[in-house]
Amino acid sequence: MMGRKVLPIVIAGGGLGGLAAALGLARKGRQTVVLEQAPQFAEIGAGIQLAPNAFHAFDTLGIGEVARRVAVLVDELVLMDAVAGERIIGIPVGEAFRNRFGNPYAVVHRADLHEALVEACRATGLVGLRVRARVDRYEQDANGVTVILQSGEHLSGCALIGADGLRSHIRRQVVGDGEPIVSGHTSFRSLIPTERMPPDLRWNAATLWAGPKCHLVHYPLKGGKVFNLVVTAHNNAQEAVAGVPVAKEQVHSSFPHICPRARQIIEHGQNWRRWVLCDREPVSNWVDHRVALLGDAAHPMLQYFAQGACMALEDAACLGQAVEAHGHDLQQALRMYNCLRAPRTGRVQISSRLIGELIYHASDAKAEVRNAALRANSADDFYDGLEWLYGRASQQATVSR
Ligand SMILES: Cc1cc2nc3c(=O)[nH]c(=O)nc-3n(C[C@H](O)[C@H](O)[C@H](O)COP(=O)(O)OP(=O)(O)OC[C@H]3O[C@@H](n4cnc5c(N)ncnc54)[C@H](O)[C@@H]3O)c2cc1C
Repeated sequence: MMGRKVLPIVIAGGGLGGLAAALGLARKGRQTVVLEQAPQFAEIGAGIQLAPNAFHAFDTLGIGEVARRVAVLVDELVLMDAVAGERIIGIPVGEAFRNRFGNPYAVVHRADLHEALVEACRATGLVGLRVRARVDRYEQDANGVTVILQSGEHLSGCALIGADGLRSHIRRQVVGDGEPIVSGHTSFRSLIPTERMPPDLRWNAATLWAGPKCHLVHYPLKGGKVFNLVVTAHNNAQEAVAGVPVAKEQVHSSFPHICPRARQIIEHGQNWRRWVLCDREPVSNWVDHRVALLGDAAHPMLQYFAQGACMALEDAACLGQAVEAHGHDLQQALRMYNCLRAPRTGRVQISSRLIGELIYHASDAKAEVRNAALRANSADDFYDGLEWLYGRASQQATVSR
């Protein structure tokens, strides 16, 4: 008698989250097919900060070594006052930090990370990668899911993971909570060769200059050959745009009120692109029977905790483990994944907004309170405060409960 064909798990979206999910499922022996709308698997040309919890997830996904190799391990997280031009604090993230959390704080070029994930997926022999495959919607019954592409093609799967980002089509059906919330914060991004970076600011640190309704971030990438710049203004922008080229003059005019030392960073930027940041309210249900959301599709957040991708990677590690635990019952596995992940990601979504308001964009008396309060902390105080997020135990508890 012929056995019944086992259908793959379909993943909508081939960003960091979707690829990591495919890898996590492949490590548990599950076949997947990743559907990416773009003509190729690629990431934007910018950097990303990865906290130890991202590396714990990489370890679970079996690519910890590769991820540590392509990343730049920074020595400090530096907070500067963008008006006074003074250093507020530097949190050391060297050896003591790595010993405490069991993994580094690092920065990496997104394309390098994306490529490492694509290669790791290919090496499993269990991941089908398809481009120019834009998912429109899904239908499901007791036996499986049918994914309908914009081209009209129908694909069958035993489950569907919606990893299709902020404007997820899958979320529209699972949650149906309309358009994302436009924050009114505009981020401008640029990459510059290190020789264009002011020599006195070529720190091996993730540096944040915090100013009234604005901030600047810079850190080295690609073994220190380039610097990543992200400068953000809370300018009440209404239209949610992503990656649109913008004139240098527009970037400059958004930061008239910060000190010359901080302003010079902007002057060296080139080929600026603009994003208007969005998030959503946390929701507790991401599952519709055989369909579940992952990454930004499930819990889009403002970038102020630098945790959006870290959370997507954790989701992927958790999903693989939930499917391993309940492989015979995928609906149960998806419910377990959802229950384990939603409280943690919701906390990070809310914390990201608060950090933006209280630390990144504070002004006048609030900025003075911020500076005094942060200066009163020792490195260990910061580490203790971050244990829930960066600690290996917090993530292990998430997946083994
Ligand atoms: C300025 C800025 C700075 C940030 N910095 C950090 C940081 O330092 N650290 C950090 O951890 N996070 C950071 N983030 C957040 C991080 O970029 C995101 O959380 C992360 O990329 C989400 O990954 P994802 O795979 O869930 O979604 P995405 O990266 O959005 O990927 C979704 C994929 O799905 C595809 N897709 C969309 N719709 C469809 C469809 N209908 N059919 C098929 N494919 C589809 C897209 O083309 C895309 O490839 C930052 C974000 C911003 C805006």
